[in-house]
Amino acid sequence: MLTPRLDRVFIYHCGDKYSDDNLDRFISKIDTTPGLGPKGNCWLWEDWLENGYGKFRLNISPGNNLRMSATHVSLETSSGKLITEGLLVRHKCDFPQCVRYDHLLEGTQQDNINDKIDRGRQATNETHGMSKINIDIAARARYLYDSCDYTQMQIENELHIDQTVVSDILKNKLWYDKSYISGNSKLGRNGTTKLTWELVGEIRRLYSIGKYTMQQLGNMFAIDVSHICAIIKNKKWYDQNYILPESQNGRNKYSNACNIL
Ligand SMILES: [Zn+2]
Repeated sequence: MLTPRLDRVFIYHCGDKYSDDNLDRFISKIDTTPGLGPKGNCWLWEDWLENGYGKFRLNISPGNNLRMSATHVSLETSSGKLITEGLLVRHKCDFPQCVRYDHLLEGTQQDNINDKIDRGRQATNETHGMSKINIDIAARARYLYDSCDYTQMQIENELHIDQTVVSDILKNKLWYDKSYISGNSKLGRNGTTKLTWELVGEIRRLYSIGKYTMQQLGNMFAIDVSHICAIIKNKKWYDQNYILPESQNGRNKYSNACNIL
């Protein structure tokens, strides 16, 4: 697949609003790797995020800058037209971190609310008596889910997050994290491989040598990572002679808790 030439997309200075330096800096913060976003064709903002939405620091003069939403910059510098004051930029792709110009359109706050209602996830970035969700809470939800000690429903209760939001976080649709491999990804929550004691022993042995992460082992054997985790923690296929990896002196700070790194 061809890499999009961002320097041929984001070209308009909009008068003197965007200097060459600002355009270059804007482009340098965008990841166009194929596979990002719900349909795999989003361009990801790789810098400052607020509530999952990209922010850009527009340098006006030395020491003087303006905070802008990255989606505004994307639309303005790709079309040459300034966004009408008071209007928002909406995502056709339903992916807050995306700054791909043709996934964006100008709209009102009401359009935005209608979008959210349409998609049945109005609670997404709102409070509604729920936790205000930020990237830390999203990471915590994933961490709990991958620990194999929590069901999705327990996470909703523990973190006071709406069910649809937890589901979107675990599918990596909200608060997208490139390094996160969704528990609901292609292998599904239930492993497809039939486990045997022999296989369990092999999984434990491979993990103990420290060369593979749980996720890699999951992929290798086509077993869901939550099962790998339970095996490694000796919660399933209990073996009284098995020595837990956490007593073998830290591989990394996450290993005890089955975070998939
Ligand atoms: Zn997109």
